[in-house]
Amino acid sequence: MPLLTSYDPINRAPLGDVPITEPADMPAVIISAKKAQKLWAALSLTQRQQKVVQAYEGLTSVEDQLALLISKEMGKDYRRASYEVGGTVQNADYFTQEIAQALQSESMGRNGEMQYRPLGVVAVISPWNYPLAMANNLLLPALVAGNSVVLKPSEETPLVTELFVKTLNQVLPKNVLQIAHGDAQTGKALVNADINMVAFTGSLATGKHIMASAASGLKRLVMELGGNDPLIVMAGADIDEAVQFAVASSFENTGQMCTSTERIYVDERVADEFEQKVVALARRYHAGPWDQKNVNIGPIVNPKQHAKVLSQLKDAQIKGATFLLGKYQYALPYIQPTVVTGISPDMLLEQDETFGPVVAISRFTELSEAIARANASPYGLGAVVFGGAGVKLVAEQMEAGMVAINQGAGGLGPWVGAKQSGFGFHGTAAGHRQFSQVRVISK
Ligand code: NAD
Repeated sequence: MPLLTSYDPINRAPLGDVPITEPADMPAVIISAKKAQKLWAALSLTQRQQKVVQAYEGLTSVEDQLALLISKEMGKDYRRASYEVGGTVQNADYFTQEIAQALQSESMGRNGEMQYRPLGVVAVISPWNYPLAMANNLLLPALVAGNSVVLKPSEETPLVTELFVKTLNQVLPKNVLQIAHGDAQTGKALVNADINMVAFTGSLATGKHIMASAASGLKRLVMELGGNDPLIVMAGADIDEAVQFAVASSFENTGQMCTSTERIYVDERVADEFEQKVVALARRYHAGPWDQKNVNIGPIVNPKQHAKVLSQLKDAQIKGATFLLGKYQYALPYIQPTVVTGISPDMLLEQDETFGPVVAISRFTELSEAIARANASPYGLGAVVFGGAGVKLVAEQMEAGMVAINQGAGGLGPWVGAKQSGFGFHGTAAGHRQFSQVRVISK
């Protein structure tokens, strides 16, 4: 049986293996998922919700192991990894109740009823940057809605997902939740299989591929894709708060976060102060192994992503940007905290998602110019505006699914992207219902 090896991003040392689900194996996986789904759907909504909660309770005994695996497989520091695991495990009760509530049948007038029925088999395809949380966000509504799930985790983080699924499966009925390990080939085979829905979190490029493949079977889609989030700092902003946010949000999870701040437009009148304070704060960050003291930036997940960040920095250097902190060449696997100013629309740093610990700044004189540049992106996940008077008017012009004023975007209401950051979403009643089929009964 072919194996997928997980590697430590710090030294590329092998951490362990899992069996690969090859494309030829996929039909059998789906047949067993279909059988299991029929029995699972025959349970009541409450029974399913309770079973899922019971399965998640089993995770409490492996929380430390899960957090350690996240740290080892993708380099996140242990405290943050524990936070990710804790959020996943401890909130399951609350979220499954919310989901079950959203899926209750609704009466329509005197003679009608609207029901939220299971779709069938749902493929959940997840990324590595929050390996547990991202899988979990799609898994919970899919399961409680009465679907069976085949989870295809990222090939960068198979071990943590393997332990997660194994533990849940000590309680869940057989084959209601299966795991299919492998790279894009396994993902493609899963999308092309006889399934009913693909719930995907990952890059825009993969999202486009999945959407095209899903078209033939008109498979339902939830797409949580990449971002290139802008931050506008107006002249009336509290500069210290804007600086705190800009640096923290650019460096969080080593910049490998879908809603990290990717590009900053700052009013010329406050730009000197803003840049000086950003550099002073950024100097307090250091990249290194997650288990060392005073390290708050981890390794870049793999050499390919490391090369991508460097190519964007090099491109900015060639096109005339100024490096206020750091440089454009770093040895694997780290990128030290980097602050670049003088970013322009022709630079890759402005055009594309970077996914690295880079603060990329550009100055503006006219607010309309900043708004136009913030919106001149195919992405539209999050957007943030720091400012005083008039800040709401600016925020309301942002083309993004999640817009925030003087704070980070997201976390309130559904997790939702606009434009090519995706469609379909999770969270809130409207999000939960996307994992089910509406059936209207007229009596
Ligand atoms: P990725 O698209 O490379 O891979 C994601 C998953 O898709 C992996 O499991 C991968 O094996 C699988 N895959 C790759 N090609 C496939 C194909 N053709 N068909 C089916 N499956 C395929 O993304 P990544 O590098 O793992 O994650 C980083 C990206 O995810 C970033 O763009 C980030 O912004 C995005 N992301 C978005 C959100 C959100 O909520 N919008 C959250 C986290 C990450």
